[in-house]
Amino acid sequence: MILVHGAGIDQQRHYRCVGIGVGPANLSLAALMHGHPELTNIFVDKKETFGWHDGQQMPNTTIQVSMLKDLVTLSQPTNQFSFLAYLHESGRLYHYLNAQFDAVPRQEFRNYMEWASQKNENIVFGQEVLSVEFSDLFRVRLSGGTLTADNVVIGVGVRPWVPPQVTAYLGDRQFHVSDFLTKADGLGGLRVGVVGGGQSGAEAFLDLISRTGPDMPRRVVWISRRPNYLPLDDSPFTNDYYMPGYSDYFASLDAVTRKAFNARHLLTSDGISEATLRLIYQRIYTHRFINGYTDLVALYPNRQVSRVARAPAGAWHLTLTHNEHPGVAESAELDVVVWATGFAPAPTDFLHPLNARLEREGDEYKIDNSFAIQWDGPPDHNIFIQNAARGQRGLADPNLSLNAWRSQRILDRLRGVRTEHHLDSFIEWMTKPAGAKLQGA
Ligand SMILES: Cc1cc2nc3c(=O)[nH]c(=O)nc-3n(C[C@H](O)[C@H](O)[C@H](O)COP(=O)(O)OP(=O)(O)OC[C@H]3O[C@@H](n4cnc5c(N)ncnc54)[C@H](O)[C@@H]3O)c2cc1C
Repeated sequence: MILVHGAGIDQQRHYRCVGIGVGPANLSLAALMHGHPELTNIFVDKKETFGWHDGQQMPNTTIQVSMLKDLVTLSQPTNQFSFLAYLHESGRLYHYLNAQFDAVPRQEFRNYMEWASQKNENIVFGQEVLSVEFSDLFRVRLSGGTLTADNVVIGVGVRPWVPPQVTAYLGDRQFHVSDFLTKADGLGGLRVGVVGGGQSGAEAFLDLISRTGPDMPRRVVWISRRPNYLPLDDSPFTNDYYMPGYSDYFASLDAVTRKAFNARHLLTSDGISEATLRLIYQRIYTHRFINGYTDLVALYPNRQVSRVARAPAGAWHLTLTHNEHPGVAESAELDVVVWATGFAPAPTDFLHPLNARLEREGDEYKIDNSFAIQWDGPPDHNIFIQNAARGQRGLADPNLSLNAWRSQRILDRLRGVRTEHHLDSFIEWMTKPAGAKLQGA
C-alpha cells in the first residue's frame, strides 16, 4: 500500500477506473465519480502537490470562460465540487459577489481546483505513471507500485512548445512563458522580447510593460506571426462551437473539413481577451504620451522569427521575416526572449506496450463518441483520453468549456447509462436527410 497525504493507493485492490494525470480534465471526472462509490477509482499525478499552470499565474490574470464552466456545474449543478460550493465552504461567497470580478481570477480558479483535489480522497499526488499494459485487465505501473483496473482515463494535458531551433538556447535568458514567474525577474534596464500573439504572450507583454522604477525594462518588443494582436471571439453564436451538440456534429465531419474549420476559427479559443488588449493599449498610451517613455514598446505583428543566433555580450540576434514582405529580413537584438509559442500534447509514452493495438488518426489516438481510444481489446475495458483530440472534437477539446460534459459522457459509458440533458442549439448544424424539407422553408 502506498500512502500519500493520508490517502492511499491499495495495490491489493482492483479499480474500475484509474485516472492518469490530475489537471482540470481528470479532476472533473474524479469529482463526478465521487458520487458513485460503486465505481472504485483512483487518480494519480506525478506532481508532488496540485498545480495549474503555476508558472503563468501573473497578477491580475483571469480565466477566459464563465465561472459556470467549472469542474462539474454544466453536467451536475448540485455536485459538491462546484466553484460555488468552494466559495460557500470557504465562507467567501458574499465577498466574491461584492468583488464584482468581470472574470474569475486565474489564481482563485487554481485554488478552487486545489481544494477539489484535497477534498477528494481518490486523488493521489507524487505518482508518475510509467507504463500501461493489458492482459484481461489493465496493469498501471507507477513510480511507487502497480495498480490493476478495468478502465484507464488519460488526462495528461499539454507541455510547453518552442520552435525546434530555440531548444538549444533555453535557459535563464530564453525561456518558455510557462516559466515566466520564476525566470522573468531582474529584467530592469534590459531589452526583452516576447514572441507569440496569443493570450499567454499578451499577459507576459502586459506584465513587462507594467513594471516600474528599477524593474522597468529598457525596451519591450512583441513579435507575433498573426497579422495583428487579435481578440478572442466570445460572441453568442460563436460560442455554439463550445456546446456539446457542436462537438458531436464536428466529430461527424470528414478530416479535411475538420482541419480547415479549426484553422479558420482558431481565434474563438486562442485569441486575446478584449480586457487584456485594452489594458495593453492603455498602458502604451500612458508610457508614450503621459510619461514620455517614447521608445519603451515596439510592436511587430505579421512576422515570423526565422533565425536565432548569439550576439555579443550575451545578447540574442533574432531575424524576422515579414509575412507580406518576405524578401525583407528585419532583425532585433534582445537580452532576454520569452517564447509564448504555445503548448503541445504531453507525451503518452506509458502507452508504449499497447501502441500496436491502438488506432490513430493523424497524430491523435482515434476516439469514439465516449472519448475511448478505439482498440482491439474487449469492449468493457477501455482507455479514455481527455484533451487530446482537437482534430476530432474541435477547438473546444483543450478548453474548459466542455470539461464537465466530457467527463459525464465518460462516466455514463462506465455506468452504461445516458444522462445528458440539454436542448438542441438554435442553429441547425446538421443537414436534413436528402429530400427533407427545412422547417419553415
Ligand atoms: C496559462 C493557461 C491558462 C489557461 N486558461 C484557460 C481558461 O481560462 N479557459 C479555458 O477554457 N482554458 C484555459 N486553458 C486551457 C486548458 O484549460 C488548460 O490547459 C487545462 O489545464 C487542461 O487541462 P488538462 O487536465 O487536460 O491538463 P493539465 O492541466 O496539463 O494537467 C495534466 C496533468 O497530468 C500530469 N501528468 C502528465 N504525465 C503524467 C504521468 N505520466 N503520470 C502522472 N501524471 C502525469 C501532469 O503533472 C499534470 O498535472 C489555459 C491554459 C494555459 C496554459
